[in-house]
Amino acid sequence: MSEIWEILHRPDTVVFFDIDGTLTSYNYGKHHAHHELDGKPEFRDVNIYADCKRLKPLYDYISGHDVNRLFCISREPHGHEEWKSEMVERLYGIPASHCFYTLEAREKPQIVMNKVKELFPDISPESVVLMDDNDDTLGMYMTQTPFCTAHPMLFMEKM
Ligand SMILES: [Mg+2]
Repeated sequence: MSEIWEILHRPDTVVFFDIDGTLTSYNYGKHHAHHELDGKPEFRDVNIYADCKRLKPLYDYISGHDVNRLFCISREPHGHEEWKSEMVERLYGIPASHCFYTLEAREKPQIVMNKVKELFPDISPESVVLMDDNDDTLGMYMTQTPFCTAHPMLFMEKM
């Protein structure tokens, strides 16, 4: 029986959200999930985050939790960091200063480990939840960190 929902709702729980596919629906294109220009140099100049919609179940959770304990960690190889952070702040109220970026998904576990050590040195590992829609990333989190993991579909289940 999953305890992750109960853990997420404890006031002292710290959460790191992935952004693409977790705080967004990942439907960036007109006829595709990926934006049609993804992979092309011109993609750097497209703000795919301008039209993102707030995902209400995630918003309801986030707005009921201490924002000082909510962070984002995202792979960003297209130079879209500023637009992405602006979207997270506008739609969810998570400050841009709480958003961390990496070029490589495989670096996510170490970045989270370092941030938790820096910001919450005494926290129990069971009070940290790493939420990501990517199976490989969830697997790396499980094997390379002591923290809990969750897939964002959990929120669909609870609607
Ligand atoms: Mg993702």
